[in-house]
Amino acid sequence: MDPVQLRVVIVGGGVAGPALAIALAKTGRPIVTTILEATQPDHDIGTYFTLQDNGVAALKTLGAYEAVALEGYETKRALMYNDRGAVLADINFSGSITVRRSRVNCILSEQATAAGCSVRYGARVARIEEDNREGAVDPVVAVLDDGERVGCDVLVGADGIRSSVRAVIDAAAPKGGSYTGLLNHAGEGPVPAGLEIAPERWHMFFGRQAFFLYHLTTRGTVLWGINEPSAEMMTRERRSAKTEDEWREHFVGLFEGDNGPMQAIIRGSKVDLAGDNTCDMESVGTWSRGRLVLMGDAVHAPSPTSGQGGSMALEDALVLAMCLRDHAGANFENPSRAFAAYEANRRERVEKIVANGRKMSQSKMPGAIGRRIRDLMMPLLFKLVDFEKKGAWITQARIDWDTPLPVNGPCKSAPWWKFGWASQA
Ligand SMILES: Cc1cc2nc3c(=O)[nH]c(=O)nc-3n(C[C@H](O)[C@H](O)[C@H](O)COP(=O)(O)OP(=O)(O)OC[C@H]3O[C@@H](n4cnc5c(N)ncnc54)[C@H](O)[C@@H]3O)c2cc1C
Repeated sequence: MDPVQLRVVIVGGGVAGPALAIALAKTGRPIVTTILEATQPDHDIGTYFTLQDNGVAALKTLGAYEAVALEGYETKRALMYNDRGAVLADINFSGSITVRRSRVNCILSEQATAAGCSVRYGARVARIEEDNREGAVDPVVAVLDDGERVGCDVLVGADGIRSSVRAVIDAAAPKGGSYTGLLNHAGEGPVPAGLEIAPERWHMFFGRQAFFLYHLTTRGTVLWGINEPSAEMMTRERRSAKTEDEWREHFVGLFEGDNGPMQAIIRGSKVDLAGDNTCDMESVGTWSRGRLVLMGDAVHAPSPTSGQGGSMALEDALVLAMCLRDHAGANFENPSRAFAAYEANRRERVEKIVANGRKMSQSKMPGAIGRRIRDLMMPLLFKLVDFEKKGAWITQARIDWDTPLPVNGPCKSAPWWKFGWASQA
């Protein structure tokens, strides 16, 4: 008799969805996956992000690291400066790569396809139907906005911070993220004449009005981003009220009087992103219900300042696939047990990372007194505290693909618990 197959529909082809498809193929179990992604693939849109050590380790386990690394830039350190250009801290970031997010999405989707997943673009899920009758042929159906019905045994919401699958699982779940009080802007341009940029690191400026970071690329250009404190959220109308030139002038004005290359970099650049609201999502009470489950930003979105959202999505993919491999039963008769094990092994870690990211976002918005205190305290703190060691629970946690995860989550008395989470049973 043929083994019982598990048909998995994944809503969302960002980072989390295709990573899960690759991981499910890697389990070697008879799992058939389909990704339904609303948009069309585009290698060259949007901003860059940095995948830290833990995300890179997850990429390596998925077998996708080499392809992603070819498209990205090594990031070994992060240098922090105050508004007068004095170095406040120099942080080790080794093992990280900075890469355009859309390229990661495309590479992972290509690898998911190569692993046998059907990746369907332009397939927006409009509604989800459930059939809880014993022996139902399609216990879950994803209905696309053109009316097409895609049946499956398990449906995964990897549909981002504004997830619609989340509301189907729990109508009381958060509708979207909370605004962190920062607007996000980004661009790329040539290195200004006369400016020497140390490679393989983020340079981060705590300006008086806004935060600026930049990174040299191997193409000889410079990538940059701005976090601008703003009590009011950006609206579509406000965003489109300014032309690209006007946005550029606005950004230049944010760094008036600060000592650094910010204005020169911005003046020569193309603006890729202007007026994006920076959000995070602290806690989602219900991660799964029956045959539906959430992952990635759909269930825990740390603020971009944490630099961990993409890495968390990659870790989720491995852990969810391992739990379906090991805890769903010989004939996949108990997916909800696998989902409970996945949540038990993930929730505490990801919620701590979101909370951490929220604190980091606030450090970008101090007033004049806060800035002076920060300038005095930060160099001292970095001398006294080993931040690399302190952050090891985030970046040094590793998933041991070959060892089944404990169904009730990690045992906190184990020595590896200091990393906040680990895979050993
Ligand atoms: C400005 C910024 C900077 C960031 N910097 C970093 C960083 O440095 N490091 C880091 O690790 N993370 C960073 N992040 C976070 C990171 O980008 C996200 O955490 C990560 O992309 C989440 O991946 P995801 O697959 O869960 O969600 P997404 O990437 O949002 O993908 C969700 C997908 O679902 C699709 N979708 C939604 N609804 C439907 C539907 N109904 N039907 C079909 N498809 C649907 C969407 O089109 C989308 O492609 C940053 C985020 C931002 C905004």
